[in-house]
Amino acid sequence: MQQELPKIRTVHMTNLYLSVPENLEKFLREFRQILKDNYQIITVEGEERYACGQEHTKLNPDWVPFKHLERYCLEQGLDDFEVRDFLEEYLQRPIICECDILIDRREERKMDLIEQFGMDFEGYDLVD
Ligand SMILES: [Zn+2]
Repeated sequence: MQQELPKIRTVHMTNLYLSVPENLEKFLREFRQILKDNYQIITVEGEERYACGQEHTKLNPDWVPFKHLERYCLEQGLDDFEVRDFLEEYLQRPIICECDILIDRREERKMDLIEQFGMDFEGYDLVD
């Protein structure tokens, strides 16, 4: 009898997969949508944003940092630890909870500039 292999990608395959920009874009788009569907908008430091709503501390028993990420990675056949490593590097921020994946520093920097200069940089490429 033939046994079906579990649909799990190795660390190496996950890295290769996310290194393709279209795959990474698809991953972020789909996963961010899943988070937004499951999260609520809360006010953090006077700013409205989607977040898990839990305090990020091991002392909080209700905090399950990678609940949706683990499930999504399993469905997609990706290694969730490697996904976290990869995204930390890509987003240039520590990811201690999956809600960190929603925050894009490049987007934030753009908003900072808009605030600072009172200008809308829409349509301009900001120098990295
Ligand atoms: Zn969180």
